[in-house]
Amino acid sequence: MSWTCHGQNNADMVDNLQKNNILTSTVAAEAMKQIDRADFVLPDTPAYVDSPQPIGHGATISAPHMHGYCLSLLSDYLKPGSAVLDVGSGSGYLTAVFALMVGENGRAVGVEHIPELVERSIQSIKKGNAAHLLETGRLSVHEGHMDKSFQTGNWLPLTRRLSSDGKLGYPDAAPYDAIHVGAAAAVVPDALVSQLKPGGRMVIPVGQFMQDLIVIDKKSDGSLKQHSEMGVRYVPLV
Ligand code: SAH
Repeated sequence: MSWTCHGQNNADMVDNLQKNNILTSTVAAEAMKQIDRADFVLPDTPAYVDSPQPIGHGATISAPHMHGYCLSLLSDYLKPGSAVLDVGSGSGYLTAVFALMVGENGRAVGVEHIPELVERSIQSIKKGNAAHLLETGRLSVHEGHMDKSFQTGNWLPLTRRLSSDGKLGYPDAAPYDAIHVGAAAAVVPDALVSQLKPGGRMVIPVGQFMQDLIVIDKKSDGSLKQHSEMGVRYVPLV
């Protein structure tokens, strides 16, 4: 499916995500069109090809179709004024799209454990249409404190695994209407669940060798409802 979502340019890529029913929110599509993926990939890397791309330090920017799926699942929770947490923010691309959606009265927080990527993501965001939200503090990216042992092993994750200490979220700006996790956790981290607002939604890949993209809805009484949206699979490192 994903090859059909390549684009000649950023707008074309977003149009193709919509045509393929991967991106089902017009508000999210407008925000994606305002954030140029080319600002977030390395120089000489194809920005509008529908696949993950290396961003250095062993990390990748997720494929446009994964960004599209996650935005579709979260768009109802990314209204103007909402608060959103992006754990494993990596390139900062999705954090910037989230920030545009929640706007000047909202709050978008990225947490990333590789300090160089935190800095690089901030520089990338400054190039584009979400820069003003960085200046006002409505958008911020923070370094998490982690152990990196998860990065070794014989499996190449499609989404990178979340290490144990990275489950802490960012309590200072909690609770959040929406939480997106861009790295797979072995189990759903309690701290993230507790930082989700009643009525809010979290999207998180869970699993070790086989992963599910889990959607967790916290109801107004605080109870949780969850389902698997789709499977994601680890492939062997070649
Ligand atoms: N949505 C991001 C995904 C980047 S890949 C993007 O499209 O750019 C996942 C990211 O999670 C990597 O940058 C990795 O460094 C980061 N990561 C992995 N474990 C983490 C943890 N415990 N805490 C914070 N970030 C983590």
